[in-house]
Amino acid sequence: MKPLLEITEKGLHCSAGGFYIDPWGAVDYAVITHAHSDHARWGSRVYITAESGREILRARLGANAVIETLSYGQVTTRNGVKVSLHPAGHVLGSAQVRVEHQGEVWVVSGDYKTESDGMIAPFEPVRCHTFITESTFGLPIYRWRRQTEIFADINDWWRTNQTQGRTSVIFGYSLGKAQRILSGLDGSLGPIYVHGAVAKFLPAYEAAGIRFPTTKDSSTFSLTSTRATSAMVIAPPSADNTPWLRRFGEVSAAFASGWMQVRGTRRRRALDRGFVLSDHADWDGLIATIKATGAERILVTHGYSEVLSRWLRENGWQADVVQTRFTSEVEEEGEVLPPES
Ligand SMILES: [Zn+2]
Ligand SMILES: [Zn+2]
Repeated sequence: MKPLLEITEKGLHCSAGGFYIDPWGAVDYAVITHAHSDHARWGSRVYITAESGREILRARLGANAVIETLSYGQVTTRNGVKVSLHPAGHVLGSAQVRVEHQGEVWVVSGDYKTESDGMIAPFEPVRCHTFITESTFGLPIYRWRRQTEIFADINDWWRTNQTQGRTSVIFGYSLGKAQRILSGLDGSLGPIYVHGAVAKFLPAYEAAGIRFPTTKDSSTFSLTSTRATSAMVIAPPSADNTPWLRRFGEVSAAFASGWMQVRGTRRRRALDRGFVLSDHADWDGLIATIKATGAERILVTHGYSEVLSRWLRENGWQADVVQTRFTSEVEEEGEVLPPES
């Protein structure tokens, strides 16, 4: 019997249901876990995504894309296969995909984070027989501190830069991370400027009822204004080492990412600070989630899949690597930063 989901040249396919999940080729029916560019590719005939992700997917795919939505937990049936979406806690509108056929249940995690960020629907483990999990940070060295502690560190760093007359510039992925950083900033400290790539996704978050400190367009920044050096700037990693940065005068630059857990990454990029803030599960989060699904079979993709699947086999699971063409978090914005070392 054919497995319920299998990797084909266009991506993860459900032949019984006639759809793909996060296909990398153009297909008829594409179920999309979230709008990061390595998961949501252009060219499919119909897209299905979570209701709260509609506007973000629209911003990614353009006005002509046909986008249908499901609210979390709502079930749709295709050729007798039940499909539903469940919160993944990764970025606004991110979903796990639950697929059920003749009593057999598979769940595809997409990217997920297990700590609630206080903005979007928090991650919910879903019971299943086979769980396809990402493993971006699937090494035991990756263990996150609580975000409240990270936000306190970021605000302290901002205050220190103000006393030294330097503009604070923090880099974070424009969809998800940048909004999360913004939500943790103390807006009473000074003006907050956002790069256009970050500003682009704010309306969708605000439409979902999420409140942010007041922001200004980074193109309106002026060094001659009296409070300029008290400012915080949020920008995508691709803005690092570009002429765009020069307008901010003397800056202290930081990067917020799970990769900052590894010190060499920060040094290579000549950053002043690295804040370990990730929109993915850490090692403990991955293991806790795998247990909570009750799945006997785990397929691991998207990251340190060999390490995690070996650990799972050694600890009694049936586990394998599935080779998807998903890339790592760093490539979601065309970054060249390698995850290793
Ligand atoms: Zn993602
Ligand atoms: Zn991803």
